[in-house]
Amino acid sequence: MRFYTALLFLLVARVACAQNDVDPEVARVQAEVARVRALVEAGVAPPLQLQKAEAGMADAQDAAILRKTIYGKDLTEAQSDDMLAAANRRLERRKQEYEQAKKLVDAGAAARNSLDEPRAEIDTAAKEYGLAESRAALVHELTQMASEEEELAVKLTTEPAEAPSVAERHDGDGVFDMVMFAGVETAYERQFGASLPVSAMGQTAVHRAMGFDHSGRVDVALNPDSAEGEWLRTFLTVKRIPFFVFRQAIPGKATGAHIHIGPVSTHLASGG
Ligand SMILES: [Zn+2]
Repeated sequence: MRFYTALLFLLVARVACAQNDVDPEVARVQAEVARVRALVEAGVAPPLQLQKAEAGMADAQDAAILRKTIYGKDLTEAQSDDMLAAANRRLERRKQEYEQAKKLVDAGAAARNSLDEPRAEIDTAAKEYGLAESRAALVHELTQMASEEEELAVKLTTEPAEAPSVAERHDGDGVFDMVMFAGVETAYERQFGASLPVSAMGQTAVHRAMGFDHSGRVDVALNPDSAEGEWLRTFLTVKRIPFFVFRQAIPGKATGAHIHIGPVSTHLASGG
């Protein structure tokens, strides 16, 4: 009985959570669709108006996906695929709207400058798609790095002799914290006049989805054998900060090569 009560509690909590998740813009369009539907059913508005309102609904839902993903903090690869698909649908809708407006202009039913707005909307949607693409590329890179780390963790236990070919382990004093990291960042900026290219700061959605605890660790997207990578390796060694160097797991493919600062990631107890 207690089990069922707990289950019910979880379900209620989930539903409450899902309700809180409704995007305000989607909620607004939803209310508008309901209002128009009532008018159409009462025979005081043309059915076409309902079709338009429903098309607006799909667009508002895609816009909500983009607000959560392009501008959101942390993404998994699956969410990043949803983001690209939503951005693509929005761009396609803007192109269709332009084509329809152009038909009216070609037929002499609308002024040529009525195309200015749909054209500007295509530009905005194309920029949005570009942002989604670069965000997705970053998430993909992060996933590559995380799988490199996973591969190494497995290799360290199953084939310890092979591990050095994909990774180098430096234990230093075994201690790494955010004060030490601030020191690394400052020194790097002073040396190169650019900020340290951090790709994963602590735990991320990608690591969580892969069942990894990456909290208190930092990934730096630097080829370990570039001038910057070499400088960072020397700095960390001198400061006795633990780090891992990941080169390429697949010969000829440098994707995923990076420097991981801090102890190696552990598996999350719950696997999620
Ligand atoms: Zn890492």
